[in-house]
Amino acid sequence: MQTKLIKLVRDIYSTDEFIPLHAPTFAGNEQAYLAETITSAFVSSVGKFVDEFEQKIQDYTHITRAVATVNGTAALHAALHLADVKAGDLVITQALTFVATCNALYHMGAKPVFIDIEPNAFGLCPVATEAWLTEHAMLDADGQCRHKDSGAAIKAVMPMHTFGHPVQLDELLKVCQEWDLTLVEDAAESLGSFYKGKHTGTLGRFGALSFNGNKVITTGGGGMLLCQSEEDGKHAKHVTTTAKQPHPYEFYHDEPGFNYRMPNLNAALGCAQMEQLEAMLANKRKIAEQYEQFFSETEFKFVKEPDYAQSNYWLNAVLCPDLESRNTLLKQTNAAGVMTRPVWQLMHRLPMFADALRGDLTSSEWAEARLVNLPSSPVGN
Ligand SMILES: *Cc1c(COP(=O)(O)O)cnc(C)c1O
Repeated sequence: MQTKLIKLVRDIYSTDEFIPLHAPTFAGNEQAYLAETITSAFVSSVGKFVDEFEQKIQDYTHITRAVATVNGTAALHAALHLADVKAGDLVITQALTFVATCNALYHMGAKPVFIDIEPNAFGLCPVATEAWLTEHAMLDADGQCRHKDSGAAIKAVMPMHTFGHPVQLDELLKVCQEWDLTLVEDAAESLGSFYKGKHTGTLGRFGALSFNGNKVITTGGGGMLLCQSEEDGKHAKHVTTTAKQPHPYEFYHDEPGFNYRMPNLNAALGCAQMEQLEAMLANKRKIAEQYEQFFSETEFKFVKEPDYAQSNYWLNAVLCPDLESRNTLLKQTNAAGVMTRPVWQLMHRLPMFADALRGDLTSSEWAEARLVNLPSSPVGN
């Protein structure tokens, strides 16, 4: 199986060299737009590409307001701030995620509550979330959701669309409504993924995208904060800059700003990349089909988009029969110069989150022992 898989990947990418997990593709106007920023001298945090890039993301996702940020973690951090998450508050999230999800809430002084994933799309399980809340939470007289034992306020639910596969958003929204919690979607991996026709990151009050070098499109480093309401959007732009009140020359700032602005240089790259997004998504879908076909004849199970969604197939993944076969696959492919990677270690195993509250994590542990990511760059790099 491993030998055949290595051959398949080498055929897909037509190379005998090292094959990374996900490399960026620059096939369009990247150089021209970048050169334009330098010629115009608008390389920093003000410039037409920032506005254009925000507009392009708004048009593509149909979000009310998109605010460009320096990276995805910053977008998540600002989203939690705008969702009124404060030091000591609890935020419900999944144990199976990339560490950035939890870093964002850690820096608010908030604490994660780790809930299990559902084993189909590997996102936060609405049933497990509801069950944990029913057992451990209450609504106080003011309607604030609180952890029964500690009295800590539970403010938000932050699911993550793992590898680009959308979580069960309608069901999570229902739980959020019932317990008066804000939904903040970590859509860092899911640009181009749609839940029942709606772009991921637009169903929660806030969503965050990432344009890191390994994501579907890249701005070098960058992120985007998606805001459902005009009011949140305005406030998001205000706090992610320096919170300065407009005035021809006076400096007056009415609250602490983050200065999380995306430079125009990076936004120029983003504008060029957005022009190629559809082509890249189509390209990635074809690669996914080849993997799916290959694994259908094995005891390994290729991870397909859930039937309620259209995924971007950011990172292709396969479920191995057990830990031993997972380890063999990782060892042999990496030794052959074909990069594969296990899923992230569960968050509660990391020292900074070891003491966090958590529910039963059976499905997360099951997936952790079996999931392997496969090379997923668009072909033609
Ligand atoms: C990439 C990623 C982020 C953060 O993105 P950066 O732009 O690198 O800060 C956050 N969450 C998840 C799940 C990610 O994969």
